[in-house]
Amino acid sequence: MTTAAAGSPRTYQVRTYGCQMNVHDSERISGLLEQAGYVRAADADGNPDVVVFNTCAVRENADNRLYGNLGHLRPVKDKHPGMQIAVGGCLAQKDRGDIVRKAPWVDVVFGTHNIGSLPALLERARHNAAAEVEILESLDVFPSTLPTRRESTYAGWVSISVGCNNTCTFCIVPSLRGKEKDRRPGDVLAEVRALVDSGVLEVTLLGQNVNSYGVEFGDRYAFGKLLRACGEIDGLERVRFTSPHPKDFTDDVIAAMAETPNVCHSLHMPLQSGSDDVLKAMRRSYRSEKYLGIIERVRAAMPDAAITTDIIVGFPGETEADFQRTLDVVREARFSSAFTFQYSKRPGTPAATMPDQLPKQVVQERYERLIATVEEITWAENRKLVGQQVEVLVAVGEGRKDERTGRMSGRARDGRLVHFDVGSLAGQIRPGDIVHTTVTYAAPHHLNADGEPLSHRRTRAGDAAEAGRAPRTPGVLLGLPTVGAPAAAPAPTTGCAAH
Ligand code: SF4
Repeated sequence: MTTAAAGSPRTYQVRTYGCQMNVHDSERISGLLEQAGYVRAADADGNPDVVVFNTCAVRENADNRLYGNLGHLRPVKDKHPGMQIAVGGCLAQKDRGDIVRKAPWVDVVFGTHNIGSLPALLERARHNAAAEVEILESLDVFPSTLPTRRESTYAGWVSISVGCNNTCTFCIVPSLRGKEKDRRPGDVLAEVRALVDSGVLEVTLLGQNVNSYGVEFGDRYAFGKLLRACGEIDGLERVRFTSPHPKDFTDDVIAAMAETPNVCHSLHMPLQSGSDDVLKAMRRSYRSEKYLGIIERVRAAMPDAAITTDIIVGFPGETEADFQRTLDVVREARFSSAFTFQYSKRPGTPAATMPDQLPKQVVQERYERLIATVEEITWAENRKLVGQQVEVLVAVGEGRKDERTGRMSGRARDGRLVHFDVGSLAGQIRPGDIVHTTVTYAAPHHLNADGEPLSHRRTRAGDAAEAGRAPRTPGVLLGLPTVGAPAAAPAPTTGCAAH
């Protein structure tokens, strides 16, 4: 790779939008660029040599936002000879060559199927002094075979599949990420082991629809088996997964969750709507009764399970009666948290052209009622935990007020956010360590534990955080940790309404 100035490697910045898939893809983009000799620019550096936008097409106006950001960068690039701008992710897959037509100062456009080409495309664009656009229609190599610069010392994502075979009418994922491709269980487990060997305590298995994992190699029980196999990995303390799909959910997964000690009793299962008519219009083939049945069986097997969800309000044609069904299911399911979304048209999806799009004020009003109901329930569920002991995996970046309050923050085993007083252990607890403490207060979205911690365990993840080491998986699974700056952990649940 040529250098910006003699002897100094070129710097890069990745700007990520959207869901965990994108955040994890950004870890791969960083890994690839670092393998190619680039170094990460400081966050505050307004002048990196390469800026990569990893975009999301899920939201309406996502393209306006991208072109706005690209517009801001144009004068910066004009003043910085040799600077390159690359655009990848779902919006790039969708808009392709349009991006360089609308923003001719962009150097590289790459899609969701060919992340691995980025360093070569940057090099080629520089050499030819012309934009490179490369979009593939299907997956080139499974992205997990690419080198990955992990953002957390204690928690890591591991892809088990990419793409989706469903056709939910509000979702752009199938057209941009393609059909489901499953990774072989042996490869998944090898990556999990490599992460654990580098100190990681918690792994989140990632797929658009983890319950259909195995469809490609003909084993419909493959996901439950994978969870059980994770239970055999020494040193792996927490296993999570996202996202399951109610349509494909089988009872063996519930049994695997209940019987495998390191699998956390937390389940993020998108509901989307409580109305069977709306589910039908969304082309989601389960009905509310099936959804509630799964929850009942999960609770029977794991009474302490925390169940979270995604809900879309204001889907085209949704009536007040449909909306009331959603509120009914929310009350019955007793979620510990819910990501709620106002329906907005996503260009390219069937729902965007459906008749009966609802006026904004109707959607807004229902949305506010939904939030009020969700909060009433999540708060009541959280209050049940006051006085109970929780195990907290100490995190980076989870407590905005920690500096002011002198607390630290992390996630309980069930995924709840806990802010805890460090008491006499001030200065001794590191991100990645494990703390046991007692819940003293509950809010709708978090718990506080304001007494002296009951115990503190120093972990290898904490050692790595203290030493500034972030794990890397250098492609094809042979991961030994190398030195890197620690950064924020992945959030344990989805923030994207794609499922
Ligand atoms: S919402 Fe989820 S399950 Fe439905 S098509 Fe999109 S990715 Fe697949």
